[in-house]
Amino acid sequence: MTDLTKLTIADARAGLANRTFSAAELTEAHISAIEGARALNAFVTETPEKAREMAAASDARIASGNAGRLEGIPLAVKDLFCTDGIKTTASSKILSNFVPSYESTVTANLWHDGAVLLGKVSCDEFAMGGSNEASAFGPVINPWQRLKADGSIDPTPLVPGGSSGGSSAAVAAHLCLGAAGTDTGGSIRQPAAFTGTVGIKPTYGRCSRWGVVAYASSLDQAGPIARTVRDAAILLTSFASVDAKDTTSVDMPVPDYEASVGKSVKGLTIGIPREYRLEGLSPEIAKLWDDGIAWLKDAGANVREITLPHTPYALPAYYIIATAEASSNLARYDGIRYGLRKRGEDIVDTYEQSRAAGFGPEVRRRIMLGTYVLSAGYYDAYYLKAQKVRTLIARDFADAFASGVDAVLAPATPSPAFGIGEISGADPVEMYLQDVFTVTVNLAGLPGMVVPGGKSSTGLPLGLQLIGRPFGEEALFQLGQVIEDAAGTMSARKWW
Ligand code: GLN
Repeated sequence: MTDLTKLTIADARAGLANRTFSAAELTEAHISAIEGARALNAFVTETPEKAREMAAASDARIASGNAGRLEGIPLAVKDLFCTDGIKTTASSKILSNFVPSYESTVTANLWHDGAVLLGKVSCDEFAMGGSNEASAFGPVINPWQRLKADGSIDPTPLVPGGSSGGSSAAVAAHLCLGAAGTDTGGSIRQPAAFTGTVGIKPTYGRCSRWGVVAYASSLDQAGPIARTVRDAAILLTSFASVDAKDTTSVDMPVPDYEASVGKSVKGLTIGIPREYRLEGLSPEIAKLWDDGIAWLKDAGANVREITLPHTPYALPAYYIIATAEASSNLARYDGIRYGLRKRGEDIVDTYEQSRAAGFGPEVRRRIMLGTYVLSAGYYDAYYLKAQKVRTLIARDFADAFASGVDAVLAPATPSPAFGIGEISGADPVEMYLQDVFTVTVNLAGLPGMVVPGGKSSTGLPLGLQLIGRPFGEEALFQLGQVIEDAAGTMSARKWW
């Protein structure tokens, strides 16, 4: 029999419908793949028994002609989504014993459509990071390895990106057919770029945030990581919904995103933002970008330069707003209501000891930063200023769209995946600079998709980013497919 872990979601759906294989067989193949890939450390919690149960239920529904849109499709879920009765840690010690008694809306949508849960995957603690090295359960290893100049393999372990690094690694290593991630400043897109996978952060409000452990509520969005543009479209159709439990979710009909895949891009106008041609942009990233431009032009899109003048202020504004919201969101982890408790002499001592023992260094840094920028003496100078910058960044994009641009094409990351420990050194700002191409999208609430566009000189995947109008995900799938057709899908060599 063919290796069922090599299938796309679209292929698996067809195979299940034709009874070429069962959901139980498809799930079993992935459970074995996960067992064989523990060296990658992608999973915090494997749920094989749950998966077998769900797959059996899928087979019964397929047999009775009641298959849902994702019937029998095995998925991994970032450990930031609350799952009823299944431990949800946010990759933090403070939640290491937290078992929710409710299900996030996004994952509930997936199970409603028939998907199978393989387990919960690692991330940077509370989704704060860009390499997955900030997980309390150790770094996740990227299935990709670098090539040396002589073409031989460099075994240095590389990061899978972050914060949704367990999701990207699991998808790239064929441990699941797709995964749920979240993106506050790039956490779906950058891991997708680092692993040769496709990731989409939808428009703010497209997916419910209910039941997703909050990092920065005005920026957080859930979205899928998959191996093809079509698979990402299939997944997003199930992820998206309006939800009375999240007042920022938007009541817009959810299109069948898959219908956009393969549609002509003739006549669409693509903006190329001048300000993203950063000084010192690496030649291979510049070439990747030029290739993307050429492919979209060849497919009939119009391409023109645009200006997004406030881009240089995006990173500082992001790190002020995100940390401010994080400091407020994380106030709830007090050692009393849930999670880890270190009993102190009195209640305040208990709070302090629980938080000191439960939060890792990056989370503590961000709580302190966020508390500082919100403090009475500095609120106007930092937080208020950052909010104004945010408005200007959103306006830059709005102006570009008003001038007739349908989507923006840009790089996803300034470099390919780096080695574990290479950037997480003394200066945290080095890591923050990785997010230069992604945070604007969250600040403006726009949809952004990353599709593999080529490889670095060291043989690693590089991602191209498409940024759309609000609720313009369909155009991203159209354009993304053109890039995928030109660049091809990518697969890491199995070494683990
Ligand atoms: N790397 C960014 C940060 O650390 C983005 C994280 C995210 O999108 N969750 O904040």
